[in-house]
Amino acid sequence: MSQISKMNQRIVKSEAMTREIKQSKELFRILFYRSPIGTYIIQNGHFRLVNRQLAYILGYEEDELVGKPALSFVLAEDRDTVRENAVRMLKGGCSLGYEFRIVNKQAKVKWVMETVVPIYYRRKRATLGSLIDITERKQMEERLKQITAEMQHSNTELEQFAYVISHDLQEPLRMVSSYTQLLAKRYSNKLDSDADEFISYAVNGAKRMQTLLHDLLEYSRVGTRGKPFIPVNCEHVVEQAMANLKIAIEECNASVSYDVLPTVMGDEGQLVRLFQNLIGNALKFRRDEAPLVNIVAKRRNNVVTFSIKDNGIGIDPQHRQSIFEIFRRLHTREEYPGTGMGLAICKKIVERHGGHISVQSQPGQGSTFYFSVDTAGGESE
Ligand code: ADP
Repeated sequence: MSQISKMNQRIVKSEAMTREIKQSKELFRILFYRSPIGTYIIQNGHFRLVNRQLAYILGYEEDELVGKPALSFVLAEDRDTVRENAVRMLKGGCSLGYEFRIVNKQAKVKWVMETVVPIYYRRKRATLGSLIDITERKQMEERLKQITAEMQHSNTELEQFAYVISHDLQEPLRMVSSYTQLLAKRYSNKLDSDADEFISYAVNGAKRMQTLLHDLLEYSRVGTRGKPFIPVNCEHVVEQAMANLKIAIEECNASVSYDVLPTVMGDEGQLVRLFQNLIGNALKFRRDEAPLVNIVAKRRNNVVTFSIKDNGIGIDPQHRQSIFEIFRRLHTREEYPGTGMGLAICKKIVERHGGHISVQSQPGQGSTFYFSVDTAGGESE
């Protein structure tokens, strides 16, 4: 090959290399400077290279940042932990998603999330970092925390209120009840028939109010007077509930069966009340035939789900949620006695045990109530 053609070849090669270098520079410019993520290189604690987005987050021009100590933009309270994190990162690799606060040029504090990796830049150790502004997300988290705290506060206040009301009303009501009963005893058949009727209304009204208050008090006590959680054997719990319902079970000739039931962390008294309410309802809302109640427990990871199945009158699916509300009933007192608080108390007990309660049923085809208990035993707030 002649000297000239060799030179020509070299020129073509070097032109291709120049083109490639230009393209790489172009690509770098796009990737680094136009990136929507704040990107930078820090060396000896000072910014060496910064992109437009970082400058935007900090509120400066890019060239105002180069050469400045990176820590000077970090909020004073967060500086020590950011410094420690940088040292840890240089020893052990990268640091992902580290959150801290910076102060921008307008003295506004912003939350940012940083990811950094150690690199070599111009043959010296350096840090390549990327930063995103998470102020909005943090503000929303804060607001959510505030709302949750406010809700917990007003819930506690409401519970206290319900407790005080139902507790303090009991005493005057006991007076009304005993004196109306006394009236009935002493004056029945001595006044006219209207008077007898009025007195009997007053006696019944006072009795009903006492039952309502008693149930409301029990409801408010689930949250305020609960016992600390201990390991509770659920077979013993069901046996106690059945012992409390002995007369009702015998009266309607019911048969209540249960599988092997586990031990869970909980408040024993409340778990007895829970089973008692559910079994009691299965007996109360029976059809003409003798009630059959079957209790089963299934464990999945940390959660045990109990089911209480009956062969009673069933429930229209449209009431599946509402029956758990306080004072909600689907029948008149003449059809079935009750206050409509039983299932609301069940729901509150289940929620305190970190679980959920639900029902599956069709009218005339029995009902199955399900409730879960978190066996890890964390009491819900
Ligand atoms: P109460 O028993 O005092 O009416 P609950 O809160 O225990 O109050 O129940 C609410 C309503 O849910 C009941 O009035 C009844 O209509 C329905 N219900 C509850 N348990 C059953 C059941 N096992 N079978 C059919 N209906 C039921």
